[in-house]
Amino acid sequence: MKRWPGGSTMIDRPESISQRAETAFVAQAVGAPARRTGFGLIERRMALDRLAEAIRRHETALVAALAADFGKPEAEVILTEILPVMQELRHARRNLRRWMRPRRAWPTLATLGTSARIRPEARGVCLIIAPWNYPFSLCLGPLVSALAAGNSAILKPSEMTPATSALIAGLIGEAFAPDLVTVVEGGVEVSEALLALPFDHIFFTGSPAVGKVVMAAAAKTLASVTLELGGKSPTIVGPDADLAQAARWISFGKFANAGQTCIAPDHVFVHRAVKDAFLAALRARIGKSYGEAASSPHLAQIVNDRHAERLSGLLGDALAKGAQLTLGGEAQGRRMAPTLIEALTPEMRISSEEIFGPILPVIPYDDIGEVIARINAGPKPLALYVFDKDRAGTAQIIAATSSGSVGVNLTVAQFTHTGLPFGGVNHSGIGAAHGEYGFRAFSHERAILTNRGSALPLIFPPYTARVKRL
Ligand code: NAD
Repeated sequence: MKRWPGGSTMIDRPESISQRAETAFVAQAVGAPARRTGFGLIERRMALDRLAEAIRRHETALVAALAADFGKPEAEVILTEILPVMQELRHARRNLRRWMRPRRAWPTLATLGTSARIRPEARGVCLIIAPWNYPFSLCLGPLVSALAAGNSAILKPSEMTPATSALIAGLIGEAFAPDLVTVVEGGVEVSEALLALPFDHIFFTGSPAVGKVVMAAAAKTLASVTLELGGKSPTIVGPDADLAQAARWISFGKFANAGQTCIAPDHVFVHRAVKDAFLAALRARIGKSYGEAASSPHLAQIVNDRHAERLSGLLGDALAKGAQLTLGGEAQGRRMAPTLIEALTPEMRISSEEIFGPILPVIPYDDIGEVIARINAGPKPLALYVFDKDRAGTAQIIAATSSGSVGVNLTVAQFTHTGLPFGGVNHSGIGAAHGEYGFRAFSHERAILTNRGSALPLIFPPYTARVKRL
């Protein structure tokens, strides 16, 4: 095991985590924080400021780390990794005093003569487990909420993006004492060892399959959980959609980060009357943004060979079962060209598995009722997108379905709104992140009722006839 300057912990031999001594070391790090009951406004703001300064100092190194991990274009690093965390930091700093303030609850008839308050309190020691697809912002974004709520935290970045993981460990080691924030690097075994420890709260971002593992582990200690999961996010292009607008947003939402975005449009249902015009607009937009080759410098790579093979396997399976390749399909190493396919059938794996890559199935429909029935037959998605100028029709689609969030005439931008809860529902997640919702996820809302001359003693035994009349 290596110790990072400043105390972050790196476990680089996964098998060794099972040795009692090392597990005990992690347990000690986890148990060490003395601030279990939370700290005050000034200290929380100072922690947020230290994080902001450390991020600014490491910006250039972060661009290099994400280029090394999966060829992410610099503009995408700035827009999708650094900006969201800085925005969360600014928003939390500005609103923290209000979020921390105890709220009053009005007395009820039965509790007249009492005063009631709800006091948000730190949960304690929190575990944040992050995925690889936005390995920086999905690790440090939740940390902003954890610190704002007065917690200490252990961060477990993804092992699939090792350069970013090492950068996070160094950055956190510089900014924080280990009893406040500690990074533990490593893969599944490390994650499992951490999950065996008695955390007060676990904030997990990743796949639904691992989300179930996390929830089962949390059940053993009754830790509270926030699960930010994934799934297939459907997109509907209605007959009255602005097709150029739909093409622009769908192309951006789907092909940014090479489609490796939890809220990327997974597949598009398009009204048959506008299908050809939509496809023409989409092809034109893809050509303008990326060209039609895999070599575009504006496209990120697929994160590793295993995922590149998974994607070519998904595409191969669909084509072998009769799907039609409309655009793309070409791959150069781990770079894959934006790809459009049509003529899908339910037997194809791509019809049920989360795609999480730059392949976009386009499915024509005649009756919106069929589309709603198909969406409702599957697990509740993380996001649903609707493109249509018909507001009443859009409202009907929203009312007839369920999803973590909805984007109307746009994609993925709901992630950037600090005033909106970000999260899934059931299969796509439990709980929410961002802004005040993130603060609440990491807080316990403690109910405090104080007697100021309440009439409640009237109900105490002995139970006279008068009590029964109350
Ligand atoms: P993943 O579930 O494979 O891994 C996430 C984290 O869990 C990693 O740190 C990994 O080390 C750890 N892990 C993996 N297997 C584990 C196990 N058996 N026990 C304990 N820990 C384990 O997810 P991923 O491949 O990194 O990310 C892709 C998935 O995450 C997609 O499904 C995507 O939709 C989802 N996602 C969701 C959001 C969101 O905000 N809702 C954001 C990004 C990604």
